[in-house]
Amino acid sequence: YSAKESGEGYRFFTEEMNLRAVERMELENSLRNAVQNDELVVYYQPLVDSRSRILGMEALLRWQHPALGLVKPSVFIPLAEETGLIVPIGEWVLQTACLHTKKLQALHHRSLHVAVNLSARQFREPDLVACVEKALRISGLAPECLKLEVTESSIMENPEEAIVKMTALQEKGVRFSIDDFGTGYSSLSYLRRFPIDTLKIDRSFVSESLANQDDQEIIRTIIMMAKNLNIETIAEGVENRAQQEFLNCQGCRIMQGYYFGRPMTYDDFRDILKYNLE
Ligand code: C2E
Ligand code: MG
Ligand code: MG
Ligand code: MG
Repeated sequence: YSAKESGEGYRFFTEEMNLRAVERMELENSLRNAVQNDELVVYYQPLVDSRSRILGMEALLRWQHPALGLVKPSVFIPLAEETGLIVPIGEWVLQTACLHTKKLQALHHRSLHVAVNLSARQFREPDLVACVEKALRISGLAPECLKLEVTESSIMENPEEAIVKMTALQEKGVRFSIDDFGTGYSSLSYLRRFPIDTLKIDRSFVSESLANQDDQEIIRTIIMMAKNLNIETIAEGVENRAQQEFLNCQGCRIMQGYYFGRPMTYDDFRDILKYNLE
């Protein structure tokens, strides 16, 4: 039963499973070569408004391993973090996503923004600001079209440093989202100290939003508080129409999820943009 046949990437490596030492070393070695061998691919998942119009996309990394098939980020991102490989890989993702976005804007004559995930390790890098500026410079993408997704925990590691870096980029026009919001421990009033443009409501609340009263209440509270602070909300993991309607009613403006589109290749994303009215 091969990985390719399963269609879900290599079945052996699951999130729950600790990789055996040998497998880990093998994976680590091949990850080292993945960038040079052109095995990394950036996928794009649409971000839509309440009328299902595409406003932008999130860049999501995939590893097309020659033997293992498509390896999911939940397997190799933690490994890339531990080894530090996430730094060159993350820089490559940033540059690729900016270049692709600039191309799509030109091709379709429309304004699109791209959201790029930054890992804690990347965020800690002293030259983060220069690295982002470089990606903008070589792509020619307007800074306003780039959103960086950070997690609560990565900015809380060193809040003072985070504020300095985020402010420097914000002054250039770059915006920030808090990813997986609601899963950390920080309160919104504390997060207000950071220059944050968007909160992404974690998928776990959205997926239970129809069945679970508590999750509904959490979503309502996040949206209401964000609105009072003039912060945008994005719901991630929207999988059906009922969830979309619930979120719409609560005043969530932007959504992302399989219901609107799965992460896809640049070419596929370019093609679906043709049929999506601005
Ligand atoms: P994330 O940033 O929270 O990204 C959203 C994840 O939810 C993606 O998983 C996406 O495919 C998935 N998703 C979106 N809509 C739905 C839905 O309706 N249902 C379900 N079940 N899932 C949905 P993915 O692509 O596997 O990425 C997982 C995580 O890996 C990301 O979570 C992010 O933390 C990390 N990641 C991905 N690409 C990068 C990258 O370039 N750099 C870094 N540092 N991390 C990345
Ligand atoms: Mg994200
Ligand atoms: Mg997220
Ligand atoms: Mg998430």
